[in-house]
Amino acid sequence: MNTKRAIFLDRDGVINDTIDRGENCFVQGKKVRWTAPWTYSEFHLKQGVTDALDAFHEMGYLVILVTNQPDITYGTMTREDHGRIMAEVRQLPLDDIFVCEHGRDDGCECKKPKPGMLFDAAKKWGIDLAQSFMVGDTKSDASAGRAAGCKVVMVNDENNNNLDADFKVSSLQEVQELIED
Ligand SMILES: [Mg+2]
Repeated sequence: MNTKRAIFLDRDGVINDTIDRGENCFVQGKKVRWTAPWTYSEFHLKQGVTDALDAFHEMGYLVILVTNQPDITYGTMTREDHGRIMAEVRQLPLDDIFVCEHGRDDGCECKKPKPGMLFDAAKKWGIDLAQSFMVGDTKSDASAGRAAGCKVVMVNDENNNNLDADFKVSSLQEVQELIED
């Protein structure tokens, strides 16, 4: 029986800042505005991330990163930069890290909005998804969390006003407060 609780965290826009590419940026034919860092120098952790993750652990949650990183596949980021960024991410107090590197035409089961990474984590760790939270900043995160049966928390509220979420917050510190309630 799955009895553990988890907080699933998206990466870009949740633990690190996204980058504003302006009005006329296209990746693989799709217009994008706020994106992941594409180089190591663009990678900036948000303030207080380590403390927030420590607090989640203290509340009895596993803390698991679930991130789409298609930019390696699309050619907008080098594998070297991706590796340098992830080396920093691995320094954080995370129990596990799931990365989907597929592009949108690859037909995989892991790329959010599909819930594959959450299901894989649940199986690996014995997680009760209904007692768990998906914390993200985009529609894909919300959809993946919903499909997995998690409670959905959206952060970074400038860009996600219209998204379907159980909770909306502006920082990981606020996630901590709502889970404590
Ligand atoms: Mg994101």
